[in-house]
Amino acid sequence: MGPPLNITEGEPLKNWQEIIEEQSQSNPPRLTVEDAIILYDKADFNSLRQVALHQRRQFTDPSEATYLIDRNINYGNACTINCQFCSFYRPPDTEGVYLQTKEQISARIKELEDIEGSRILMQGGVDPELPIEWYEEMLTFLKRNHPSIHLDCFSPIEIEGIAKVCGLPTIDILKRLQAAGMHGLPGGGAEMLVDDVRLGLSPKKGSGENWIKVMGEAHSLGLITTATNVIGFGETTAHRIGHMEKIRELQDNSNEQGFQGFTAFISWTVQLDNNTFGEKRKRNNQDKKVGPAEYLRHVAISRLFFDNITHIQASWLTMGMDVAQLALFGGADDIGSTMMEENVVSAAGTTKVLCTEKELQYAIIRAGFKARRRDSEYNLLATPNLGIDSESLPAPPPKQ
Ligand code: SF4
Repeated sequence: MGPPLNITEGEPLKNWQEIIEEQSQSNPPRLTVEDAIILYDKADFNSLRQVALHQRRQFTDPSEATYLIDRNINYGNACTINCQFCSFYRPPDTEGVYLQTKEQISARIKELEDIEGSRILMQGGVDPELPIEWYEEMLTFLKRNHPSIHLDCFSPIEIEGIAKVCGLPTIDILKRLQAAGMHGLPGGGAEMLVDDVRLGLSPKKGSGENWIKVMGEAHSLGLITTATNVIGFGETTAHRIGHMEKIRELQDNSNEQGFQGFTAFISWTVQLDNNTFGEKRKRNNQDKKVGPAEYLRHVAISRLFFDNITHIQASWLTMGMDVAQLALFGGADDIGSTMMEENVVSAAGTTKVLCTEKELQYAIIRAGFKARRRDSEYNLLATPNLGIDSESLPAPPPKQ
């Protein structure tokens, strides 16, 4: 069963061609939930991607696509939440549990500085033991030793976990972590915010409203965040659009109060190896993953739906670089980041987990865009010329 739709009684539903026509305008009307579902299910693939590319050009420089030099760091993997699709966590006090020291994390950041990186994205499990002081001490140490690096850390469920350990409200945890040097929050842990789906996959994670609440609090403190979405749990189109609707509403709310809120929306597909969810699917002969065409459809719809979020990011990690390049032609304006290491999605089957700056530049230039380095706030940075001359490529890239 999908989430309830706010369809106005008596209004005839449009056909997908009418909606594409509307969305092709320079200032199109806001895409409604019901129109988004019609487009998602019925629109011709190429028409949908074309209109998404058209809208992407209204948001960002049409000749450029961006990338970020960053590093993922997973400081610890002890977790009590047991999400069915997670292959990364270990129950506390079991074999394979680890927790990095601040010195170990600092050494990883040093390697990032060596390649001119500008941010770390640091997440871990929901550790039932670690008090807020552990996190504060780590952030203070990292900020002191790496002042130019943006520290984007701890998804909402981790913030909730720290709040529980300390018996404090989540807003107080956010304030203390921000004071210790936290720059922003990753958008992780959203997965599918519609509870029909969410509660079956991660009952201990709680309602999607918890994620929304913590993100709203983060916005109110001026913290930089992104919003994410994982698809492929067997959800309906209405669930997918329901997820986007919750994020769009929160963004409206944050923007109305004068906060930037989410900088970007990033979606990817669930990975099925080494986790309970994947095993169940395989047992039931449902091991087919979401394919590239459906993922690209999702990216295109997200560009059209989020009239209040500037950037749409493609995921090379889960879909591969070829598909990420195609996403740049269908709504996305950013190809993601170097990562340097990845331990969460890769534990569930992804094999390529890092990219060099040159690979990202090559992918963007080969797709016909000018490659621009950015920081975690999407400010453009000086971009080195790495010797990839689009004119000398084996065949000319398409012109934008
Ligand atoms: S996804 Fe996050 S919260 Fe869920 S089990 Fe894995 S580490 Fe824990």
